[in-house]
Amino acid sequence: MVEIRDLHKSFGNLEVLKGIDFKVERGQVICVIGPSGSGKSTLLRCVNLLEQPTKGQVFVEGVELTHRDIDIDAARRRIGMVFQQFNLFPHLSVLANITIAQRRVLKRGKAEAERTARANLAKVGLEEKAGSYPAQLSGGQQQRAAIARALAMDPDLMLFDEPTSALDPELVGDVLTVMRKLAQDGMTMLVVTHEMAFAREVADKVVFMDDGMIVEEGPPAQIIGDPQHERTKLFLRRVL
Ligand code: ADP
Ligand code: MG
Repeated sequence: MVEIRDLHKSFGNLEVLKGIDFKVERGQVICVIGPSGSGKSTLLRCVNLLEQPTKGQVFVEGVELTHRDIDIDAARRRIGMVFQQFNLFPHLSVLANITIAQRRVLKRGKAEAERTARANLAKVGLEEKAGSYPAQLSGGQQQRAAIARALAMDPDLMLFDEPTSALDPELVGDVLTVMRKLAQDGMTMLVVTHEMAFAREVADKVVFMDDGMIVEEGPPAQIIGDPQHERTKLFLRRVL
């Protein structure tokens, strides 16, 4: 479903990704862990071409997104992204936040866009909040609305960049529950997270990154439970 080959990204002289290779199979959940500044966000942003890689290739569903002739907007449409900061439009209702891209990008009619929005709000447990504005929601509700917005675009792949890091601790659980359900429903997910319990339970594979490289990867029981590399051990000692 996703294949990344020898991905490099530099900002000026700073090489942030130093040759990343990995694959995500359809329906898999991959959790990416690692210290701050190790390049996790840059990796996700390169997968949907919010950043242009300096070198290397990204394939999604066999289509090379890094190919120079690609229609980036069309390719990106298949990929949903959820950020640490929810990035909802503050001046739009929750319903309008979820219908706007469907209408503008997918050219869906109003009724269909609203139907899809409400179905996805129900999925994240927010069906009564359709008429509310972002400021009237808790952080956890805003993040769930952002997930519903991404899902309404019918993505093949969902990218999550520390989706619970900005939340008060008591609001984290509801968001993780939604993500767990999404995983059970078979969504392919690439998740940057510090929630080790979630990674342990939900991930098919955990990838540990440090300093722009993958240090080790494998099943959660192996990477979180029995890490081999000193850097992984050090990181886990800090977060567990
Ligand atoms: P992580 O998500 O693992 O914390 P990031 O991918 O955000 O790491 O950042 C990795 C490194 O790249 C950091 O040193 C960061 O300062 C740098 N970086 C990220 N984005 C930019 C940018 N747009 N311009 C310059 N440097 C950047
Ligand atoms: Mg980050």
